[in-house]
Amino acid sequence: MAARILDGKKLAETVRAEVREGVTAFKAKYGRAPGLEVILVGDDPASQVYTRNKEKASNEVGMRGHLHVLPASTPEDDVLALVQRLNADEATDGILVQLPLPKSIREQRILDAVDPAKDVDGFHPINAGLLASGRPRLVPCTPLGCMRLLALAEVPLKGAHAVVVGRSNIVGKPVAQLLLAEHATVTIAHSRTKDLAALCREADVLVAAVGKAELVRGNFVKPGAVVIDVGINRVDAGNGKTKLVGDVAYAEVAEIASAITPVPGGVGPMTIAYLLQNTLTAAHARAAGST
Ligand code: NAD
Repeated sequence: MAARILDGKKLAETVRAEVREGVTAFKAKYGRAPGLEVILVGDDPASQVYTRNKEKASNEVGMRGHLHVLPASTPEDDVLALVQRLNADEATDGILVQLPLPKSIREQRILDAVDPAKDVDGFHPINAGLLASGRPRLVPCTPLGCMRLLALAEVPLKGAHAVVVGRSNIVGKPVAQLLLAEHATVTIAHSRTKDLAALCREADVLVAAVGKAELVRGNFVKPGAVVIDVGINRVDAGNGKTKLVGDVAYAEVAEIASAITPVPGGVGPMTIAYLLQNTLTAAHARAAGST
């Protein structure tokens, strides 16, 4: 039987509507809109699209979203100075530094400078540590989106075996932590894992966050498993054009899994929706003076 398609585009609309309501309530209570500041350094075309979408999405839910575009030649200290200015700005609740930064800038130095209370990407070591110690505060957006998609799939996570392929700080590790918090038995696989196919075949829940087009084939998947495909890979479409595919061979796996996220239209739209949710969460925490 063909898998149920977990429609991230539609679910993201629901999350955005929830945030919009939350923003209205926040404004009524505190007399101001939550503020999101997005920083783009350089002219990477994909990053330009992502950051514009983030600014637009935040304004659409009633926030005060603002995009700072800095030339690729901007000195590291100037980027740092902007982050510090936004850290000190009372009206700023969320700061997002779009990655990748130009090679001349030390990414970690900039990310570590973001006030953890405004770190809506959830990348700061303090927020990563809080998540790892079971006290999540601001959690990375893509993993939150994955968990909401799993909730849509209504898959019981308690006691389930979840295999996460990929161990990045942005996706693999935090999604593994969130699954653990839901009492799944979690295995993290990575580039050095032996016999990945056999390991994945043990999974009730399989999350692929690798960045390798269609790495996960039909023979990686246990019949009835739920598959979340985080990967975004641009490949040759064969007609002189390119297309986006995930880390999962969708057509093959959809015949075996019980539920699957498509690419595009799965995890991707959920990431922006949870950026908005995180900005609202940060705004509430700051307004309540709890951070
Ligand atoms: P990353 O490059 O930081 O990490 C990739 C991970 O995959 C590494 O931990 C590596 O060990 C593992 N890996 C590499 N080759 C492997 C192999 N052959 N077998 C098993 N594991 C292997 O990437 P990332 O930032 O975690 O992103 C992963 C993918 O998710 C990328 O395609 C990225 O574009 C996509 N992504 C999508 C969203 C979204 O909103 N949908 C958000 C973030 C990332």
